[in-house]
Amino acid sequence: MSLIPGNEPSFRESVDLMFNRAVALMDLPPGLEEKIRVCNATYTVRFGVRLRGGIQTFTGYRSVHSEHMEPVKGGIRYAPSVNQDEVEALAALMTYKCALVEAPFGGSKGGLCIDPRQYDEQELERITRRFAYELAKRDLIHPAQNVPAPDMGTGEREMAWMADQYARMNTTDINARACVTGKPLNAGGISGRVEATGRGVQYALREFFRDPRDVERTGLGGKLDGKTVIVQGLGNVGYHAAKFLSSEDGCRIIGIIEHDGALYNEAGLDVDAVRNWIMTHGGVNGFPDATHTAEGAAVLEQPCDILIPAALEGVINLSNARNIQAPLIIEAANGPVTAGADDILRERGTVIIPDMYANAGGVTVSYFEWVKNLSHIRFGRMQRRQEEARHELILAELERLSDHLGDQWSMTPDFKKKYLRGADELELVRSGLDDTMRIAYQSMRDVWHEREDVNDLRTAAYLVSIEKVAASYRAKGL
Ligand code: GLU
Repeated sequence: MSLIPGNEPSFRESVDLMFNRAVALMDLPPGLEEKIRVCNATYTVRFGVRLRGGIQTFTGYRSVHSEHMEPVKGGIRYAPSVNQDEVEALAALMTYKCALVEAPFGGSKGGLCIDPRQYDEQELERITRRFAYELAKRDLIHPAQNVPAPDMGTGEREMAWMADQYARMNTTDINARACVTGKPLNAGGISGRVEATGRGVQYALREFFRDPRDVERTGLGGKLDGKTVIVQGLGNVGYHAAKFLSSEDGCRIIGIIEHDGALYNEAGLDVDAVRNWIMTHGGVNGFPDATHTAEGAAVLEQPCDILIPAALEGVINLSNARNIQAPLIIEAANGPVTAGADDILRERGTVIIPDMYANAGGVTVSYFEWVKNLSHIRFGRMQRRQEEARHELILAELERLSDHLGDQWSMTPDFKKKYLRGADELELVRSGLDDTMRIAYQSMRDVWHEREDVNDLRTAAYLVSIEKVAASYRAKGL
């Protein structure tokens, strides 16, 4: 269910308010602002599936926000709370997200009103294939027009079913596999897509902490190493972000909030142990090495250096924004901070790394997967051994020279091993993702520091992305 309180604007209105705040600082030709803001079309489908001796009717959506570039791109969410307003808000965020990270797509999003936990695998497959059929029939799944991906409640399995359904309906389309991304590796997926959004959050924080001016604005000081973190939601995104930050960057995960309460341990939680506990027990309750709080949302208000909302929209809203103590929030989820809460936090000087940037790792690696599908070859397949051969040449030459210099000049075996290895697909994907996250952050940072009328990263992100969308409309003569 959406956590946005009734006295606050809806999710879509919240996104529009943030958009309007940025656009007020721009000089767009009359009418273009509205053209960019509005959703182009939202398709609603109701379809029946024969299940358990009867027919069940399901409602699904696919919203296309902007077609300034095609295909349009964005996930498909399975949740009972899915509704048109939410799907349109998420589609708009996809437009801005893709523009910001220079993924050459327009924005789209889909959803199916369903609680996937109520169905077994076979039932889910039938429902998913039927939904995919309804969308594909209208080109709302199509390698050149509309390319879905996973979102909350969906994953590799659902993407494989959708891709197969599309391929069955388009038997001569050589590019059929590019019709959805986030597929399993053996069905046309790419290494590193599952971890991509969490990995992107990690790269975003690393880039943030590279500039002391940015860190200073949070009052935190120092490096990413040793920072305390509270994560809300240990799904695919929250889990990977928390895991990488704790195991590779020296962060301490002191709080994890889930649907059945929160875990807290000042000394740091073992992310994999918590994840395994959730898998076997269905929730965090009973996990041994932590204090459990039934009222999970209260832990959002605990002191920590970095707060990572990684689940639903609207979790930080007018009812709790004033109690948030973290000086730095990174929005791993889409829309976790409402427009009203954003105003309060901005006034208090909380730094927010906004969703359209922070969680763009997923769509960035989706872009790589789509390119891989269209080129029909794994990244690195042609270059890897050639790269290794060239490295071997250099090492042989260096060894020959160092023979004359004595043992202290010989290379360490570890260096040789690492240097010799040509990059495989996973390394290339990570490199491309890291580069994308750095460049996109730098474009926001420049606006944040250089413009006096911009004092937050969200407005900076909107300015950069709207400018890009506007430029492509202009190029089309609109
Ligand atoms: N659902 C993800 C998002 O919100 C991924 C979208 C994609 O890969 O197309 O960004």
